[in-house]
Amino acid sequence: MKIICIGRNYVDHAKELNNPVPTEPVFFLKPETALLPKKNPFVYPSFSKNVQHEVEIVIMINRLGKHIEEKFAHKYYNEIGIGVDFTARDLQQECKEKGLPWEKAKAFDGSAPTSPFVTIDQFNDINNLVFSIQLNGETKQVGNTKDMLFNFDQIVAYVSKFFTLKIGDIIYTGTPAGVGPIKIHDKIDCFIENKKMLGFNVK
Ligand code: MG
Repeated sequence: MKIICIGRNYVDHAKELNNPVPTEPVFFLKPETALLPKKNPFVYPSFSKNVQHEVEIVIMINRLGKHIEEKFAHKYYNEIGIGVDFTARDLQQECKEKGLPWEKAKAFDGSAPTSPFVTIDQFNDINNLVFSIQLNGETKQVGNTKDMLFNFDQIVAYVSKFFTLKIGDIIYTGTPAGVGPIKIHDKIDCFIENKKMLGFNVK
C-alpha cells in the first residue's frame, strides 16, 4: 500500500508557513513503514529538533483506479479516518531552501499514525466535517473539510492521473492552521466531530 499526502490544502495553513496557495494539489508519498502500529508510542526521531503535528482527515481507497474522473471519484473511497502527518520541520525547511525532496522530513518511520477507518455513511456530510487534535488535553488545531482547497473527489481524480490507486492505499488530505512542535511525553488525541478516533503518546 502507499500513503499519499496532500500539502497546502487549507489556505490558512499554507499562509502560516509562508507558502503560496496552490492552483493544483501538491502531494508527496510516505512508505508503509511510516504507519505507526496500533498501541505503539510515537518515538521522537533523533535527527530532528522540531517535529510538528499536522492533523488531517484520511480517506482509504477501496477500488483499483487510474485516470478517475472527478464525477466518479466518490466511488473509490468509502471509509475515512484521521491521522497525523508528522513533519520534521527543521529538515523540511532545509530541504525547501536547497530545493531538495522532502522525504526525510516527512516520510520517516512512524510519521503517519492513522486511526481505524469508519464508513462515511456515519457522517452527515464528509465535506463539512470538523476535526481536531489535542496535545495533553489542549486543543491545538481545529479544521473543517469544507475549507479544503481541493475536496476529496478532486484529490482522488488528480492523484490518479499520476499513480494507479490500489485498494488499501490511503490519502492524507491536508492540515488546517495551528501546526506546532511536539515533545517527548506528550499525549496526542485526534477527533472527528466529537469522537476520539486516535490516541498515542510521544516517547
Ligand atoms: Mg500535511
